[in-house]
Amino acid sequence: MIAEILCVGTELLMGQVLNTNAQFISRRLSALGVTQYHQTVVGDNAERLEEAYRTALSRADVVITTGGLGPTVDDITKRVAAKVAGKALVLRPEAEAMVRERFSQYHKEMTPNNVSQAMFTEDTAVLLNPNGTAPGAIVQMGGGKVVVHLPGPPREMEPMFVDQVEPYLRKRSGKALISRYIRIFGMGEAMVDERLRDLELGGNPSLSPYCSTGEVMLRATASADTEETARAMLEPVVDEVCRRLGDVVYAVDDDDRGSLAKRAVGALKRKGWTVATCESLTGGMIASTLVEVPGASDVVKGGFVTYQSVAKTMLVGVPAETIERYNVVSAEVASAMARGARERLAVDIAVSATGLAGPGGGTEAIPVGTVFLGISTAERTVTIPLRLSGDRARIRELSMKNALDALRREVER
Ligand code: AMP
Ligand code: MG
Repeated sequence: MIAEILCVGTELLMGQVLNTNAQFISRRLSALGVTQYHQTVVGDNAERLEEAYRTALSRADVVITTGGLGPTVDDITKRVAAKVAGKALVLRPEAEAMVRERFSQYHKEMTPNNVSQAMFTEDTAVLLNPNGTAPGAIVQMGGGKVVVHLPGPPREMEPMFVDQVEPYLRKRSGKALISRYIRIFGMGEAMVDERLRDLELGGNPSLSPYCSTGEVMLRATASADTEETARAMLEPVVDEVCRRLGDVVYAVDDDDRGSLAKRAVGALKRKGWTVATCESLTGGMIASTLVEVPGASDVVKGGFVTYQSVAKTMLVGVPAETIERYNVVSAEVASAMARGARERLAVDIAVSATGLAGPGGGTEAIPVGTVFLGISTAERTVTIPLRLSGDRARIRELSMKNALDALRREVER
């Protein structure tokens, strides 16, 4: 089955809105094993949209649109699809009921043009929109091909895609597809590739790498007639990957949302430990990323943002002499920050970061990208020197990720 995404909206062409819908749907499609060869963005123009439909339908079985389902004149997505199908839009009572329900729920007046949101071709399956007034649709285009209409706003579109379109696509493809996401921190893509070269098949199961800042994610996917068979095919491949890569694998999940913070919070919970942070160049990112994990309040006690030297002294008691003597970017200061945070907040473990994110301020002895992490427990305080490269944002993000990795490693030690 081949799918194609067609996003409608002049705002996308003008760069006013980032096309996150295409990214979201693409990721979900590839996880489903649905092939895509093209994507299109077209403005709110009937002639060009019609051409885009005809082109997309000539090369795909399922064309998925987002945007242009509203009641105003520039909302033409449905009307043009109906024209291409050679069918008329008619009022569909069940869709009208959905639209009316939303309007009463939002205590809004329904104007006559809102009724257009309930107009679809005769054989269209209407999709419920729990978060907005415009229903979606699966429109029969003839020759077994369909157009799926979804609204533009991501918070409306995303749940509709997951809850209603995915089951449809799964049923239509008749194949069970199982994916596992293997998350790696602390090993570069080249090394991962080196270790797995003979496994990295484009076959079934397939193994494909994705890189983000400092991390590699491997998606392992198997396709079979049943879920059990696909799972059984996948398991030995995942086990072999984990065996070869060792403890740089920090998560193996059913979705791609696993994170270093989730692993760290999980490790802290299992051990019944509390944590505190003391951050300089990361300015609170470590704490903020930890608390993104639901339930972090069980383990995250608090943190300090000690940006200037004086704050390091005032808030966590780093001796001014230590800063003076060793430099604020030093193992000694990172260590004192972690120890100070642990003692002041009476936690089991504290993590600290001090470093130079740049772009200015580097010297020969301490170049931009020099970072020291500190980890302190009742048993010991250790420091980790890092030499990071990249711009300010990347250095800060990598510092945060290394700190979370160091944290989970110490907790799990
Ligand atoms: P529409 O359904 O065309 O009225 O779009 C409503 C709003 O949804 C737009 O103003 C955008 O903010 C958002 N939107 C539309 N298309 C996309 C897209 N492809 N990606 C992200 N947001 C979008
Ligand atoms: Mg629009």
